[in-house]
Amino acid sequence: MEVRLLDLRPQYAAIKDEIREAIDRVCESQYFILGPEVAKFEDEVAEYCGTRCAVGMSSGTDALLAALMAIGVGPGDEVITSTYSFFASAAVIVRLGARPVFVDIDPTTVNLDPEAAAAKITPRTKAIMPVHLYGRPADMAPINVAAEAHGLTVIEDAAQALSATDRVGRAAGALGHMGCFSFFPSKNLGGFGDGGMVTTDDEEMAELLRVLRMQGGKPKYEHRVVGGNFRLDALQAAVLRVKLRYLDEWSAGRRANAERYRALFEEMDLLDRVRLPDDVAGHVYNQFVIRVEKRDWLRDFLTERKIGTEVYYPIPLHLQESMSHLGYKEGDFPVAEEASRETLALPIYPELTEEQQRYVVATIQEFYS
Ligand SMILES: *Cc1c(COP(=O)(O)O)cnc(C)c1O
Repeated sequence: MEVRLLDLRPQYAAIKDEIREAIDRVCESQYFILGPEVAKFEDEVAEYCGTRCAVGMSSGTDALLAALMAIGVGPGDEVITSTYSFFASAAVIVRLGARPVFVDIDPTTVNLDPEAAAAKITPRTKAIMPVHLYGRPADMAPINVAAEAHGLTVIEDAAQALSATDRVGRAAGALGHMGCFSFFPSKNLGGFGDGGMVTTDDEEMAELLRVLRMQGGKPKYEHRVVGGNFRLDALQAAVLRVKLRYLDEWSAGRRANAERYRALFEEMDLLDRVRLPDDVAGHVYNQFVIRVEKRDWLRDFLTERKIGTEVYYPIPLHLQESMSHLGYKEGDFPVAEEASRETLALPIYPELTEEQQRYVVATIQEFYS
C-alpha cells in the first residue's frame, strides 16, 4: 500500500466539473486580475470568518507582508512571534527592516506562549503575530489583553487555519485585528497555485490593504504609499469559490480522521511511545503532528514502506542562518528546539481511508516492536 502525505487527486475528481466550469467562466470573461470573481470570493471569505472585510492577496506570505506594511512596520520596530513556524512568519518582518522578537512555544499547544509574548513587549513593539500552527488556534485571549494594554496590533498567521475556531466557535481570522490566510495547494483551502487573503473588521485597514496590493496607487498612478503587486488572480478566486463550499465537509473529514488515529493508536497500544496532538475543539488538523523519540529513524522506516510524512519544522526560526544577525543561540527556546527533534506529520487529508490509516499506525507499531 502507498499512503501519500497529501493526495489532492480524489478531491479534484469529486468536483472536477464544477471547477472546470468556474475556470471556463474566467476564460470567457478574459478578466484575469482581481475583478468580480475576486470580489465575490472576498465577500464569501469575510462571511465565512465573520469579519467585515477580506482582501485577496497573491500568497499567504504577501498577506502577512501587506498586513505589516499596513501598520507601518519598518526599521527600529519589533514584532513578537513564535520561533516555531514556517519561515515566512519571520521573513516578512526582516524584509521590512524590523526585528522579529521570538518567543518559545507552549509544549501542549505548540503555539506561541502568551505569557512569554507579553513579557517581550517593549516601547518598540508594533505587533504580536501568533501562528495557528497545524490548524490549532493559538490562545488568543491573553495575547489580545496584552496587546490592548500596550496599543499593539494583533496579526494572526492563520495560513494553516481557515475553518478552525476558538473554544467558543469564533473563526480563525476573526480573533485579532487582521487574519492572514494562504491558499497554497496543501492548506485546508488550496488553490491551483498561490493565493492569500487578509481578513479584518477595520474598513480603513482593508482599504489601505487594497491600495498596498496595487503598488500603493490611489487614484491609479498617484502613490502616497509604496506597496507591491500583491493581487489575487481571478482564476484562483474562481477555483477557490467552488472549493469554499466544501470546506466544512473537508474539515469534518480531517477531524474524523484525527479521531480515528486516536482510536487506532490506543488500540495498537502505542500511547506510551507516541504523543498525539492535544484533542481540542476547533482544531482543524491542517496537519496531524505526532511527537516521538527517534523521529528520523521512524521517518525513514515509514518512507521505505511508502508512507509519506514531513517534519514541520526541523529548524526553529531563531536558529536559521538568515536570522543569525538577531543574536539568538541554541538553548534560547528549549521547547521549540525539542519539538524540532520530535515532530512528525502523518497523512490526514479528508479522503484518507480507514485501511490507509490502519496501515500507517500498524507500520509505526512494527517500528517500535
Ligand atoms: C503556508 C504558510 C505561510 C505562507 O503562505 P504562502 O501562501 O506559501 O506564501 C505562512 N505562514 C504559515 C504558518 C504557513 O503555513
